[in-house]
Amino acid sequence: MRALAILLLSSLSLISLPTHAAGLRFALVKTAETETRDAFTIEDGAWGEKVIANHVAVLIEHHAATLLLDTSLGRQVDQQFDAEMPWWDKPLLQYGTVTPVRDQIERDGIRIDRILLTHTHWDHASGLADFPEVPVWAPYEEIEFSQISTPPAVLPSQFKHPIKWVPFTFAAHPFMGFEQSHDLFGDGSLVLVPLTGHTPGSVGLFLTLDDGRRFFFTGDASWRLEGFTGPKEKFWISRRMVDNDREGTRAQLEKVHQLLQREPNLQVIPAHDEAVQRKLGYYPQWVE
Ligand SMILES: [Zn+2]
Repeated sequence: MRALAILLLSSLSLISLPTHAAGLRFALVKTAETETRDAFTIEDGAWGEKVIANHVAVLIEHHAATLLLDTSLGRQVDQQFDAEMPWWDKPLLQYGTVTPVRDQIERDGIRIDRILLTHTHWDHASGLADFPEVPVWAPYEEIEFSQISTPPAVLPSQFKHPIKWVPFTFAAHPFMGFEQSHDLFGDGSLVLVPLTGHTPGSVGLFLTLDDGRRFFFTGDASWRLEGFTGPKEKFWISRRMVDNDREGTRAQLEKVHQLLQREPNLQVIPAHDEAVQRKLGYYPQWVE
């Protein structure tokens, strides 16, 4: 009887082995940083205060696949930028020295199975050309946006190679205050939600580690965590330049603001917020 119980227990533990996200971890792969002014990144910011804006991609290892959320600045960013960025936008969009994602991870033999894009703006899609063999997941609306939008937001040269698009739609499954979601592996560890506004198909990604710590990658809905805690919009010149739909973006700031009231332990990670990202460290350092 006891042997049977042990057998049962051990088979139960076998069954529960592939549970959610065994070994799930992520790393912020920083490709570049730029010094800018607090006031340029957020409404009511200080002109005298310098802040760093980061360019990162998020490397995610799930037991089923290795993913890259955004591609950040890639090997061809200088050619892309020089050829297509209007001269009057160039001074505001400088990015410093670049270490592309592919250069960093290839040294360690890491292969990407799938790319997810928070949105298709140039500084998130630049590295797509470095991974032509990898399927790229995005909502239909965002794939369409990448095909019709123009500089400075989207640089068409970044989409001229054959891209293995995998369009997806959201299901009517509420998650963390969002009415729709897309659970990537059906285990709740990686869940996409729509963040429409900054672009028509912007998405956010919730990542939940085994121990319950939960992170929310919010793309460019806000460049700063203060945009959600405020909530506060971007500086007006910046938002006119980059936010496709002001009201939509504002609604997302409000939604995440409410979420943070209910879930104060949730770690929100805007794509460019160096102060938030520095605390997590950068690849090859992992958050696990
Ligand atoms: Zn953007």
